Formats: sequence, C-alpha cells, structure tokens
Amino acid sequence: MSEKKTLTTAAGIPVPDNQTSLTAGKRGPTLMQDHYLLEKLAHFNRERIPERVVHAKAAGAHGVLTVTHDITKYTRAKLFCEVGKKTEMFGRFSTVAGEKGSADTVRDVRGFALKFYTEEGNWDMVGNNTPTFFIRDAIKFPDFIHTQKRDPQTNAKRDFAQWDFWSQVPEALHQITILFSDRGIPRGIPYMNGYGSHTYSLINAKNERFWVKFHFKTQQGIQCMPPEEADRLAAENPDYHTVQIFEAIERGDFPKWTFSVQVMPETEAENYRWNPFDLTKVWPHADYPLIEVGEMELNRNPKNYFAEVEQSAFSPANVVPGISFSPCKMLQARIFSYADASRYRLGANFERLPINCPHAAKVQNTYQRDGAMRFDENGGGDPNYEPNTMGGPVADPQYAEPPLKISGDADRYEQKRGVDDDYVQPGNLFRLLGAEHQARLCKNIASSLGKVPKDLQEKMVTHFAKADPAYGEGVARALGLK
Ligand code: NDP
Repeated sequence: MSEKKTLTTAAGIPVPDNQTSLTAGKRGPTLMQDHYLLEKLAHFNRERIPERVVHAKAAGAHGVLTVTHDITKYTRAKLFCEVGKKTEMFGRFSTVAGEKGSADTVRDVRGFALKFYTEEGNWDMVGNNTPTFFIRDAIKFPDFIHTQKRDPQTNAKRDFAQWDFWSQVPEALHQITILFSDRGIPRGIPYMNGYGSHTYSLINAKNERFWVKFHFKTQQGIQCMPPEEADRLAAENPDYHTVQIFEAIERGDFPKWTFSVQVMPETEAENYRWNPFDLTKVWPHADYPLIEVGEMELNRNPKNYFAEVEQSAFSPANVVPGISFSPCKMLQARIFSYADASRYRLGANFERLPINCPHAAKVQNTYQRDGAMRFDENGGGDPNYEPNTMGGPVADPQYAEPPLKISGDADRYEQKRGVDDDYVQPGNLFRLLGAEHQARLCKNIASSLGKVPKDLQEKMVTHFAKADPAYGEGVARALGLK
C-alpha cells in the first residue's frame, strides 16, 4: 500500500475523524447525526453470516488441475478434452462437526470440496477425505449430524449419541473403521486423500454413460497424527492445519494430488456384487482399477478469508456437460440441500459472488433477476422471460443426457445388496491394516466407546466381531470387557 488513501464511509464520503465520536459539547452525549459511527457499529453487528451447520471450520486455497492422461473415451467434459489442459480451481478443506472456531486436529472426517472453473461452467467436486460415509440414505442425515453436535440440554459434546445411533445403523461400520483408524486425524491437509465418495457418471461424445468414482491421492504421502499430539495441538494451536497449509503455499511448497477415476460401464451396475450407488461401500481396486487423469496443485492463498473461503459455496448439483449424477440416494439429496444451504447462508445470488462466479463470464446467462444483494447489472435491459423474440439465451439440446433406464415400483428401498453385506468391507479394511494399526484402531474406538454404558459397548462389540472376530476381540479387550 504505497499511496495514502482517504478513509470513506461505505457511500464513498470522506471521513474526517475515525478516532473520536461526535458529542454535544466536551462532556455531552453522542449525537445521532454521527452517521459514520452508526454505520460502523451497524455493519460490525452484521459481520457474521450464518455459520455452516456442518463443515464450518476450513482452510481454502486456489490452484490448477492439469490433465495428464486422455479420458475422452469416457467423458466429453471440456476440462478433460486434451492432455496438458489446465483448469483453474479453488479448494476448501474442513472438519465436519466442529464450529467455525473449533480445533483442527480433532478426530473427524474432513471435507474436500473443489470448484473447477471450466469453460462450460463450474464443476464442484464436493467430497471428503474418506471414500465412504456413515449412512447411505439422506433421510438419516439430520439425525446423524445431531449425534455429532452438542447435547440439547447441556450444550456439551457427548460420546453417547453417536454410539447410540451407530449401534442401530450397521451400515456406519465401514466409515467408523476409517474414522478411528490413523486416517481419522490427518497430519495436515496436504497429507490426506480426497474422494468424490458418491458414484457419479461420465458421459462421452457418443452419449454413452459410465459410472465413476473420483480419487485425489496425495503426492505428499498419507501422514497421520497420533491422538496424544493432536490433543495437545488442539489446546495449544487449534488452527494448526489452517496455518500449516497457508505457510506451505506462502513458501512455494505447493501441495499436489494425483487425480484418478474408477470407471464402471453402465450395464455392469445391474449385477455387480455391491450396489454401486451405496455410499457406505467402495469399489475394490481389483474390480475397478484407478485410471489416472491429472494432477491438482494448490498454489495461491486467498487474499481475504471471508471473501474467498467463508463465502465460497459448493454444490454437487454443479456438474458440467460430460459429468453427471447417479442414483446414489445421498447424492440425490445433496443435489438439493447444498444449494439450499447456500441460499439460506448467502442469499439467492450466492453464485454471483466473485469466488463462486464462473470465470468464463458468458456462462452466466440466466433469466434470474433481482433478489437481495444482486450487485451486478442484473441483466440490464435484456429480456427477463423465455421464450422471447429479442435474442435472449436459449436452451441447447446438444447437452441432453442419455435417458436413464429405471424400473419397478415407487417404494422405500434400502440401497444395498445381499444380507449383512455391511460387515464385509469394514472387515476387509480391518484385515488390511496390520497388527499395530489394528491395535491403535481398537484403542481409539475404546477411548470414545469407553465413555458410554456397558450394554451399548457390548452391542458395538457384536458389530465389530461380525466384521472380523479379531476386531470384536480387540475392541472388547481395549474396553476391558470379557
Ligand atoms: P485394495 O487393496 O484394492 O485397496 C486398498 C486401499 O485401502 C488402498 O489403496 C488405500 O486406499 C486403502 N487404505 C490403506 N490403508 C488404509 C487406512 N488406514 N484407512 C483407510 N484406507 C486405507 O483393496 P480394496 O479396494 O478391496 O479395499 C479394501 C479396503 O480399503 C476397503 O474396504 C476400504 O475400506 C479401503 N479403501 C478402499 C478404497 C477403494 O477405492 N477401493 C479407497 C480407500 C480405502 P487409497 O489408495 O485410496 O489410499
């Protein structure tokens, strides 16, 4: 800041004094006409916007996605149209349960939300650092999140609610195993993977559909934090992860991830042994190997936290031509609820905020008008209805997706396949961890489960034992149960 600027009111009027308010005489009360003081206090009172109910605490950074491999046989999305193509992006990385001021180093799932500013609009890949989730039907979501939040009477955090809930929702076992494994506390944002988690779809130039899972594997290597160190940092340096990534980018140490996909031809979904749309399951790599697509690098810090990180808004509904949805019930619900949360938090014009606005300006051709905080030219004198004869924007059928075959009766179905298959994949993960990691997993579980009544502990041990007898034994031993 070289040139000295004159301080002004929000209306641009020069301010004569920013240190002394206007009073009636030397010892008299403050005058109502000190409009600058009133504006300053009134704006201050409105500095906070509604906090996100989940994913409130986060760090964000700008970066670029570079395509390194050709996947045009699966998708016509322009961001993947040629090797070497670069797309600007913004990422927001969060804890889930804590409030905006909560500690970074808690055991929690991490949000991994990416916004790619493509020439055909924004693609938001709103994932987590886990390939699965606790539930597969969004009708359970608000209940599950209440178990992660504060007690309605005491306003204190509690362990009981989550185990009470999980003990009755065996589909959660896979994600519980990931959460209480070492990966439940990453050493930092650069040291964790990101996953789209849901199954999405890719659509190619021949209008063929493929089911897809998105993977962002850290090039820094997975690094986790022992709980004792995490607890100490939660007290001493609650913003540890936030500062760590900011400082890394400031010194030019840019974190990178390899972006890959797993691809399933549309018809294989019918008979695959797992319901491929069940968010509590992965597609084993042996069945669907990772296909490399590109590299994502974070290389620029936000200049202002509120403008770029707090006001950033992501929605799984934001897919671009060549990328689309799947029948995953959690995804279907998020298509509604993420944009709805942003309309509540930021207002109907949230997509026009600079951080959310598509970089290709011509992409925002809508008939939406007015609404609070419409700060651009609001469509000027252009037609605000369609059809019109004045050359307003028109829909283009070339972007239509192939029809999706569905059959059956409308009813309430559980999106899973097979009896008790909720135990197989948690068991696979447990067996993959190795003895020392298994012991740490059981100890981590016991440190929370040990705080709830014994009958609930026993119920959970039965679930762990169904995944693998050694898992049940390990948790029982860590709890001091017979
Ligand atoms: P694979 O041998 O093909 O995959 C093993 C994968 O397990 C690794 O690639 C790694 O995923 C992941 N993994 C390794 N250690 C841990 C850990 N401590 N916590 C969480 N994940 C870990 O076997 P499967 O594909 O059959 O998967 C076995 C289990 O691995 C699954 O039940 C699932 O829990 C977990 N997993 C599977 C993923 C998948 O897409 N198949 C992805 C992530 C986890 P990564 O390379 O992504 O780090």
